[in-house]
Amino acid sequence: MSGKPSDNRLRPRFWETVPLDRMRPEEWEALCDGCGKCCLNKLEDEDTGEVAFTAVSCRLLDTESCRCGNYAIRKQLVPECVVLTPQKLPEIAYWLPQTCAYRRLHEGRGLADWHPLVSGDPESVHAAGISVRGLAVPEFTVTEDEWEDYIIDEAP
Ligand code: SF4
Ligand code: SF4
Repeated sequence: MSGKPSDNRLRPRFWETVPLDRMRPEEWEALCDGCGKCCLNKLEDEDTGEVAFTAVSCRLLDTESCRCGNYAIRKQLVPECVVLTPQKLPEIAYWLPQTCAYRRLHEGRGLADWHPLVSGDPESVHAAGISVRGLAVPEFTVTEDEWEDYIIDEAP
């Protein structure tokens, strides 16, 4: 879900006043902090439903910028990519990282001060150590059998 930031038609501090399902498309997209964590492959325990993040990243993730390599046609290139919408958010929030802006707003926690919309600096998410920069291991370098070896603790 890590897309391209947009600053067109953003109402001032819209994330504090506009409900998620009433945001303009540009505002919805701008909510993504660019951490790239949702583009890490996850392992889900079939019995408990517990989700574990791995450091292994989707083949389309640019591990330096932490952005999708081709956001516009990501679904064609990676059919399993989940396109996040306000309607889908309630059912999938549980597997988004705790730091994810969409999950935070869904849970009424607001945006953190390192969020680029708050800081005004797209680099602040990386400087705060929230993003996958320096952590993500490209999928094509690891076999699926090895994913378990790359399970990581998620940042709070
Ligand atoms: S986890 Fe959330 S904030 Fe981070 S890249 Fe994915 S959608 Fe954006
Ligand atoms: S295609 Fe991959 S890198 Fe792009 S948004 Fe989806 S999960 Fe992230």
